[in-house]
Amino acid sequence: MLQGQHLIGGKWRGSGDAFITRSPSNLEEAVGQYPLGTAEDAFAAVDVARQALPAWEKFNTQGRCDILRRVGEALTGRAREIGTLLAREEGKTLREAVGETQRAAQAFFYYAGEVVRHPGQFYNSLRDGHHVIVSYEPVGVVSLITPWNFPIAIPAWKVAGALAYGNTCVLKPSEFAPGCAVMLGRILEESGLPAGVFNLVHGDGRVLGDTLVAQSDAVSFTGSTRTGRAILQTAAAHMTKVQLELGGKNPLVVLDDADFDTAVEVALQGTFGQTGQRCTGSERLIVTRGIHDAFIERLTKKVAALRVGHALEENTEVGPVATAPQLEKNLTFIARALEEGAQLAAGGTRLERPTPGHYLAPTLFVNTTPHMQLNREETFGPIAGVIQVADLEEAIAVATDCELALSAGICTTNIRSAERFRRASPSGTVMINAPTAGIDYHVPFGGRVPSGYGGRELGPASAEFFTEIKTAYVNHGSL
Ligand code: NDP
Repeated sequence: MLQGQHLIGGKWRGSGDAFITRSPSNLEEAVGQYPLGTAEDAFAAVDVARQALPAWEKFNTQGRCDILRRVGEALTGRAREIGTLLAREEGKTLREAVGETQRAAQAFFYYAGEVVRHPGQFYNSLRDGHHVIVSYEPVGVVSLITPWNFPIAIPAWKVAGALAYGNTCVLKPSEFAPGCAVMLGRILEESGLPAGVFNLVHGDGRVLGDTLVAQSDAVSFTGSTRTGRAILQTAAAHMTKVQLELGGKNPLVVLDDADFDTAVEVALQGTFGQTGQRCTGSERLIVTRGIHDAFIERLTKKVAALRVGHALEENTEVGPVATAPQLEKNLTFIARALEEGAQLAAGGTRLERPTPGHYLAPTLFVNTTPHMQLNREETFGPIAGVIQVADLEEAIAVATDCELALSAGICTTNIRSAERFRRASPSGTVMINAPTAGIDYHVPFGGRVPSGYGGRELGPASAEFFTEIKTAYVNHGSL
């Protein structure tokens, strides 16, 4: 069992109480033990991060780049080891977990480049004998609060971004899956990161959150919209800079002219990949009349054939649901959908496997309407509803009739339809003939309010959050 600890000022340490994580594939298997942090631990972590800030801001540029690159190399080299821990603790399949670890490594490689690539600007001034220099400085101590569903990728891209632009940080991973954050902390240390630049605290977000948000200069959060709102309120009182990546209820539109095989695969991957526990997962399948019956017939067969099982078994295509509350929530959504008259095409029930776990059959509902709870609130599980519509315009009306605006997709071979949809969608991310989930690290990612708030993550746009602008007017006199 992994013995995780807080990492504060370069020292690994515990605190009074501890909590244990269990594998959702086998609830009899304990995966890790971690200290239950207190507000004092959070305070101490921010304090040492603040002490480490001046030296890290001035740290040699090539040296900073090298540290981030070494972290990327270590994550790559240990992808199977970390992926195995991730799969055991969170429940996604080993293939998905190793892929996520490799993606975490790529974020470090990308931000290693950003250390040397990040530009400033030089302007001629409007005043004679002056010029203007615009530079980007670290925002300071950044708290990073992360969810359980991508327990290495999301911490990695937040930590790498914070460090690349000269900030120090405190990471608070989800208490459902903190093991990867411990591995990341060890790797950062072994890669030569000075003590106090990266700090780690474990425990209940409701206990640690207020201190982290109040004491830091900025907070980058990924999680539920409800928690995001609470963080925003605390941040407002302290004027802490905030970046929130929140929930989605992402539509995938399939038009009559879609490439049939592509559309089925896009829906299958986008909805059921990573056990459907992706903020960008396709939860509403909006299908036009001409293709509807053939599409749901093929998709139902594929969904019913998905192999649900233990995360570490080679044949498993869909791992268990990550947590007991999440399983409970999924079952409640299924029951309500049935009550509201949705027709079950596949799944809908818990599954028994040789080990006791949170197994749920991938679930597809057809004959659903836009107003059913299933199509209005984020389920965050391997569940989707199909809504039949007449044409592109009705599809757009249904797709955009939802306050969440993270990701949206369309399958069509008509470029005008694709472009019409791209322009009409209020979502921060639009996918054409590609699953609504699955993002690149070198371009901006995020949703619009209430799916996101306060600037994008990843790509050059992430510098807007991790830096503060300084505009300097230089009077050099006449030359
Ligand atoms: P939560 O909002 O419950 O938790 C996210 C993190 O916030 C956890 O570390 C949690 O700690 C912490 N937290 C809880 N309460 C507070 C608080 N009052 N102050 C500060 N921190 C707090 O989300 P989940 O972990 O359940 O993740 C699922 C949600 O995340 C889904 O709604 C999903 O859509 C969203 N998500 C969004 C993504 C995006 O990029 N837009 C990506 C991935 C997920 P604790 O350990 O106590 O749980």
